[in-house]
Parts: sequence; C-alpha cells; structure tokens
Amino acid sequence: MSDKAIPSLLHNEDEKQPHQNCRICNKDLMNGEMYAIQKVFKNYPGQEKAQVLFDFAMCQQCMMEARAELSVESRMRIDRFMMDGLQGLESSGENPESRFENKQCTISGKPLGESQEYQVMAVCEGDRLMESPICLSDEILEHIQELLSEQSRDELNRFTENNFGWPPELKKALQDGDLVLL
Ligand SMILES: [Zn+2]
Repeated sequence: MSDKAIPSLLHNEDEKQPHQNCRICNKDLMNGEMYAIQKVFKNYPGQEKAQVLFDFAMCQQCMMEARAELSVESRMRIDRFMMDGLQGLESSGENPESRFENKQCTISGKPLGESQEYQVMAVCEGDRLMESPICLSDEILEHIQELLSEQSRDELNRFTENNFGWPPELKKALQDGDLVLL
C-alpha cells in the first residue's frame, strides 16, 4: 500500500493538499515519519455531501501521548474490538480497501452515506498512505465510546484540561466523544 497517494478525501480541507504539519505540536510531517490523519464527517438531511467537522493530522508522538491517557484496560478493549472487526472482515473475504472504495464502514459495512456521523483515519508517511484508511460509522463509534472505562474518561478530561497544545475544539471533541482516539 505504501505506493498509494493519499486520497483527496483525506486532504487538508482548507488547503486541498495533504496535511503538512502536526495539528498539536506543529511538527513538519513531510520529513518522512509516520503520522495519522483524522477526519470526522457529519451527514445532514437533504444535503448530498457530508460536512467535515474535524480535519487534522497528528504526529506519532502526539498520538501516543494522547492515547497514553487512556487506561490500559480501555486501550486493550478498543484494540481487541478493532482487531476482531478487521479479522471478521478478512474472513468474510472483504478488505478495508474495498470498504473504503465502496464508502462503507470498515467494521460494520454500513454505508457511510446512511451514517449520521463517521470518522475516517489513515496512517501516512509523507504524501503516501501506509495502509488502507479505516472508516467508522456512527454505531461503531458509539460502541468504541462505550468501551472507554470511567477511569479513561476522567483521564481524557484531565489530559485535555492540562494539555494546552491541543486546540480547544479538539479538546472539546475528545471530551464530548465526537472524536475517537484509536
Ligand atoms: Zn505532534
């Protein structure tokens, strides 16, 4: 997959090109290290195109720091859930690439057009995709929120209160559960 260019769906919404900097620490992402793109979409009734609620890239270190705020058990539950989902997909003969191309949730197969909200994530290096983007529909996002323990919610709240490097709208999205950290 490493020969694949980042699809325009995952480009920086304002600049119409791949994200250049980490949204948290502003590090240059074109220097060859791995990073993740996170984009949250919302469908409004009567609107053909989903609206982008959040759109940013995050370097590996910032991602690890944020994720380290989750409790170990929450992280394990979420990882297990994602792994089971991806394994189930594989044994059904499908793969994340086809689900992405068909605009379906990677885990449930639900059409993203029928999902009130959905989140798309991709791991990239420079302007290339490292693996297929992962799309999560509303019911899967809700389920992942439910896998977060009380302890992790407290930790996320404390993290976002203390961590001034995070833009306010992203802190709020994390606290409100509009944004899921994988
Ligand atoms: Zn960073």
